[in-house]
Amino acid sequence: MTPEAHQDAPELTPLTFVATSDLTGLTKGRVVPTAGMPTGASTGWVPANVGIGVDGHIVEGIPFDSSGDLRLLPDPEAVHEIRGVPGKPDLTVAIANVVHTDGAPWSCCTRTILRDTVAALQEEFGLSAEVAFEHEFADLDGDTPHHPFSWRNFRAAEPIGSHLVTAMQASGLELENWLPEYGRHQYEVVVERAAPVAAADRALLLRDLVRDVFAAFDRRASFTPMTAPGETGAGVHVHFSLQSADGSNPLFDADRPGRLSELGGRFAAGILRYAPSLAAVFAPLAISYERLKPHNWSAAGVFLGVENREALLRICPTIEINGQDPEPQLHFEFRAGDIGANPWLLLAVVLRAGLEGLRQDLEPAEVVVGEPERAQITDLPCDLAQALDLFEQDAEVRSWLGEDLVQTYLAVKRAELAAVADMSDEERCRWYADIY
Ligand code: GLU
Ligand code: MG
Repeated sequence: MTPEAHQDAPELTPLTFVATSDLTGLTKGRVVPTAGMPTGASTGWVPANVGIGVDGHIVEGIPFDSSGDLRLLPDPEAVHEIRGVPGKPDLTVAIANVVHTDGAPWSCCTRTILRDTVAALQEEFGLSAEVAFEHEFADLDGDTPHHPFSWRNFRAAEPIGSHLVTAMQASGLELENWLPEYGRHQYEVVVERAAPVAAADRALLLRDLVRDVFAAFDRRASFTPMTAPGETGAGVHVHFSLQSADGSNPLFDADRPGRLSELGGRFAAGILRYAPSLAAVFAPLAISYERLKPHNWSAAGVFLGVENREALLRICPTIEINGQDPEPQLHFEFRAGDIGANPWLLLAVVLRAGLEGLRQDLEPAEVVVGEPERAQITDLPCDLAQALDLFEQDAEVRSWLGEDLVQTYLAVKRAELAAVADMSDEERCRWYADIY
């Protein structure tokens, strides 16, 4: 007899998952009955949890031990009703900031780091931002013949795709695009833009929603950057625009190269300048660097390109059909991120680097039109070990994140490198595919 057939079965108790994201970018939290979670209530959390690595163990060498207590304090503006996953009850997800027991922010709360960055951009330069995350993932159990962008591949994922889109709409994740991608059984899903923290919150929700809907059909969706050596990579691309207080687009200047304003050029310069030190954050997996190679349309090198899909930072095209105005449309796409990055931290470091470009009045970044010359490209680190060394050596970047977070991050990521050290390339890809 199935549970549903039980005549006297009690109604399911509505549950709330109080959620955070850790340094592996996986969503973590605690579950409470929704009725027991009025606005302002919090639930417990443990400092050492931030030191859990991708293999599910607390790593050695972090500045936290078995002592201490924190609270997950839901943001009342980030309470989401997740609906429409076949076979699963509706769920409230209350996205939380991590605070001390007296309510003071915890220095390792990545959501707070993003909120502070967004606030600084507003206070110091009067700028706000809008952000849309683009996620690529693979249906690991897809076994029908593949062809990029094809009707056939779109249909191969039906009815899962329709259920996914339905669940997204029902859960307040407005869909912009759902498409069969280039890679083998690869798909892409784009959620409409929102304010930065809300956009990163949605990125976090989207990942588990996708995995849940695929799992309901006994299929495994994985966002891993490389499903197998030599395969097409999967990225997490971050589109973002800036707005001035009067609603105009401070990135736009029709008379400059790429139609990018001087301010936009300085913002971009900050991102390019710090990119090598930040790679450990936006490309944080041992296999991330297999994706960040030439001809993968990911981000083979550090440059600002006009409509160029190999650029770390792309000036996106504007649509001018029927006289549409390009001015409000011009925006950036940061293309180097992947699923290993905590979405709040990923966005925080990109915006913070841009903010530093403004603060330090950096020379506007060179706008590369067409293919870059070798001299116009700065290299990204060649692997995660080098990325971690650059991150560790950059005192400025460390100061953005705080020493507890930096030390924990280095320990988590170096333990991860040790865990994959003896694996073959195939085994590494499989390991990460299972995790992500
Ligand atoms: N799959 C590419 C990546 O790894 C992106 C392709 C595209 O959508 O432009 O980032
Ligand atoms: Mg894509």
